Amino acid sequence: MKRRDFIKTTIAGATIASGVIGCRELPKDPKASHQKKTFHYNRGKKVKIKLATSWPANFPIMGTGIERFATRLTQVSGGSIEVKVFPKNVLVPALGVFDATSAGAIDAYHSASYYYKGKNEAFNLFTGFPFGMISSEMNAWFDWGDGMKLWRELYAKYNLVPFKGGNTDVQMGGWFKKEIKSLADLKGLKMRIPGLGGEVFAKLGVKPTLLPAGEIYVALERNVLDATEWLGPSLDTKMGFHKVAKYYYTGWHEPGSSLSLVFNKRKYDKLADEQKLMIEMASQELNATMTSQFQLENAKGLKIVKENNVKIAQLPKDVLSAAKKAMLEVAQEKSDKSADFKRIWENAYAFLELNKPWTDIGLKDYLDVR
Ligand code: CA
Repeated sequence: MKRRDFIKTTIAGATIASGVIGCRELPKDPKASHQKKTFHYNRGKKVKIKLATSWPANFPIMGTGIERFATRLTQVSGGSIEVKVFPKNVLVPALGVFDATSAGAIDAYHSASYYYKGKNEAFNLFTGFPFGMISSEMNAWFDWGDGMKLWRELYAKYNLVPFKGGNTDVQMGGWFKKEIKSLADLKGLKMRIPGLGGEVFAKLGVKPTLLPAGEIYVALERNVLDATEWLGPSLDTKMGFHKVAKYYYTGWHEPGSSLSLVFNKRKYDKLADEQKLMIEMASQELNATMTSQFQLENAKGLKIVKENNVKIAQLPKDVLSAAKKAMLEVAQEKSDKSADFKRIWENAYAFLELNKPWTDIGLKDYLDVR
């Protein structure tokens, strides 16, 4: 340690020890855009955060996870940040949380970025994209790549500050009533599939349909729908899909969907540095524990799927290769229309390309042998 740094550290340490509010330098981390050079030790005024979600009360994993975040943040801040969670439709509709937080009617929300792609196509990419990154790669993009920086820059235009809010991990391709033997079987198929996955499948002849969660089971049972995707065995079995569809195809369209925890920027900017840091740390915990809970609950759900005479398979090779090609076309079309999409897509795709060789050598080879 240089003498000058030593003196600075000692002085800062002494200031803190004597109880005077001082400031010192944080460890340098050029990638963490949210870190400031100096940190003011100031717990700040007590603040109340009204946080609305896109989930029903006590919704497994997502709903219970954000409740746990609220409790833990209130506790760890010694009550300096008091978070109250409002499930969907209590203060605002499920998909009204973005606008309500942006306008300052509420302070924060927990939802998924791709639900709001109508405002900006680039929002898709902060959730993920077909044939894209798995959860560990998404987290690396946010934490150590440009992901969080790009997300914060873009959301700032909407008066919002985003954080990672958990990752669903790889999602299943969905439930089909009839076996898919080749690309031809997709023609005219009515499937509930949102987002980029739906746009890709539309290019392959599928008719993507959007239905509220509460109507999907009945639509599938009565053949109004031929297929649906939802999430993975964890939440799919709670919806009962294994009772009405017997073909369950593995994932391609949502390989590691990131959820979002988002604050009103004006409210967030007024918080003390210490409060901002506590939110940052609590969001990291939320992200890690929600992701690990998906791992366990998907494993438990898979047991139920297997006990119910469901055929689990990968989609045929011609379907997957056509879908992969269609995804690149969709990305090109969106890039032509939206400079935001183009810039963020190119960054995310380059990060995927950088990470893929290691994930294949490290993870895929290991999974093949264990
Ligand atoms: Ca899904």
